[in-house]
Amino acid sequence: MPTTSRRLESISESVIRGTTRTATQYGAINLAQGFPDFPPPPALLDALAVAAHGPAHQYAVTWGAPRFREALARKITRDAGRPIDPDQHLVVTCGSTEAMMVAMMTACNPGDKVIIFSPYYENYYADTILAGAEAIWVSLHPPTFSFDPDELERAFAQGAKAIILCNPGNPTGKVFTREELTTIVALAEKYDAYIITDEPYEHMVYAPAEHVYTHALPGAFERTIVCNSLSKTYSITGWRIGYVLGPPDVIRAARKVHDFLTIGAAAPLQEAAVTALEFPPSYYDELRAFYTRQRDLFLGYLRQTGLPFPEPQGAYYVMVDISSLGFATDGEASDWFIKEIGVAGVAGSSFFREPIHDYIRFHFAKSDAVLHAAGERLLRLKDGRR
Ligand code: GLN
Repeated sequence: MPTTSRRLESISESVIRGTTRTATQYGAINLAQGFPDFPPPPALLDALAVAAHGPAHQYAVTWGAPRFREALARKITRDAGRPIDPDQHLVVTCGSTEAMMVAMMTACNPGDKVIIFSPYYENYYADTILAGAEAIWVSLHPPTFSFDPDELERAFAQGAKAIILCNPGNPTGKVFTREELTTIVALAEKYDAYIITDEPYEHMVYAPAEHVYTHALPGAFERTIVCNSLSKTYSITGWRIGYVLGPPDVIRAARKVHDFLTIGAAAPLQEAAVTALEFPPSYYDELRAFYTRQRDLFLGYLRQTGLPFPEPQGAYYVMVDISSLGFATDGEASDWFIKEIGVAGVAGSSFFREPIHDYIRFHFAKSDAVLHAAGERLLRLKDGRR
């Protein structure tokens, strides 16, 4: 009998989605897989209804419907302060998940080395392997999840072709500072590597932290491949709309990868999403204020449990240190939270390369009622004990 690809042997199934299935089975509140439980903005839903009766039901242009790319280029230009050309700098993809795969296959030859910070979002290792590349790991050290510049330089010096950067960070909530990003750009220039960024949480940043766009830093644009998505910003994780942003030579290559992977993102959804991309700046201020409130609400409960956690500066995840609870592994802890507490979180070891079993990742992209309900259940823990 034939056997399936050896490549898949080192890739596990997604722990995030596995935890979601267990949460559903036991009726636990699902703070594992990060997605909102509230509807998208009403104006966007109205636009979807209009698009449903409009003409956009066949393939859109492979690299993105022109109206969508034009609106997107205007938004990015405004946010990052760097002019973006809708015809030269963008490929519209099926979420940032496809964007990442496109970026990796565009940047890497088989056998190339890619730097991944650990902890990391689980797709990055799978993307690296599927692109035929190899990972070089660099630690982000809790509680600030900062990196050691010398360790990073040693990784680049091994001949890295690219570095993957999730900013704001999933699962850490880390927001990279301008200084850290400048260090990364300087090393990428010195060792002639690409910087692949994944930035779907760009608008979820908590004061005083600020999101700095890597591609807009001096000298960065020519080697930065941005992956991003509309999922989080407009609460439409099921629409699967994302994009790759990069210099024209990268985009010409990325269009080919994207075309053969998926042909294109859903045409009527791109049509509708133009309305979201044209929301005024106040939309993003309100989004940030909303997530700041959800974060404060949930962290308030966590503080009462006595379990320590590094305070997230961005994104909507928190890594809670459960080492005081005395479980053999975080997987066991995650099961216990689901079955005994009724709240699901992801075993943190699935995000670490190092053998670290001290964390459970919870997310707070939920309505007040759900966060209060989860918080009340978590209050069964006190003084960091069960
Ligand atoms: N980005 C979300 C998370 O980290 C969901 C993606 C997924 O299902 N892996 O939970």
